Amino acid sequence: MTEVLQDIASARKRFRKITRAGTSLGLVPTMGALHEGHLSLVRRAADENDVVAVSVFVNPAQFDDPEDLKRYPRNFEEDRGILESAGTDLVFYPDTGDMYADGYRYKVTEIEDSQFQEGAHRRGFFDGVLTVVLKLLNIVGADRAYFGEKDWQQFNLIRGMAEAFFLNTEIIPCPIIREYDGLAMSSRNARLSSAERELAPAFHRILAGTGSPEDKAARLEDAGFAVDYVEEREGRILGAIHLGKVRLIDNVRI
Ligand code: AMP
Repeated sequence: MTEVLQDIASARKRFRKITRAGTSLGLVPTMGALHEGHLSLVRRAADENDVVAVSVFVNPAQFDDPEDLKRYPRNFEEDRGILESAGTDLVFYPDTGDMYADGYRYKVTEIEDSQFQEGAHRRGFFDGVLTVVLKLLNIVGADRAYFGEKDWQQFNLIRGMAEAFFLNTEIIPCPIIREYDGLAMSSRNARLSSAERELAPAFHRILAGTGSPEDKAARLEDAGFAVDYVEEREGRILGAIHLGKVRLIDNVRI
């Protein structure tokens, strides 16, 4: 039976009891609207730890567009059922006001690697991500926390933060899970129209194909995507596009 923890003080006590008993604890932070990509992280956490906790929290601090935050898919009861069947031990589902009792006066800022790609296109995004992840890691005190390589820049910044602040949680990357046609799984895919959904796999196909980042950006525009960026960094090609009202990101190793 999956246990749902909402109150932060009680959750901290519960997590501390687990880790003090010498039981290993793995954490998978999510914003809900769960799919197979999230579940691959949950399975990996279950393989490597005695107890698995999944957090479900739509983090307002990482949205620069209030409309995007409003439209973000939320269905806790469905997520809870999915996590129950996946054998999750604990679900941490805190209240927004409790997570930001300080009114978001305190935040974590990285000043170099957060400035390009996602950071350049979504103002305040990485401050919001790093701040909420630090809060979650402090509350849960897990031995390991699992993050998807789909959000490659995010994973790198979180790992950097954990090193910079000597956090006790090991940050573990997990491979990108894709649909049968190559589209990276994302909670946002559900918002694509059927015509957009048909076009969407071309994003990955073009990113993974041959040519310079500039060629790929031009090919994506020709195919009907509005390109935010296509850039090469540390042996990866990373991209972000808009398809109608939906923004998608992806990356592939070169
Ligand atoms: P989100 O709920 O979108 O914030 O994602 C929660 C975690 O799941 C993040 O670490 C994501 O990188 C990871 N994730 C989301 N989609 C995928 C995917 N298709 N494959 C692997 N990990 C993913």
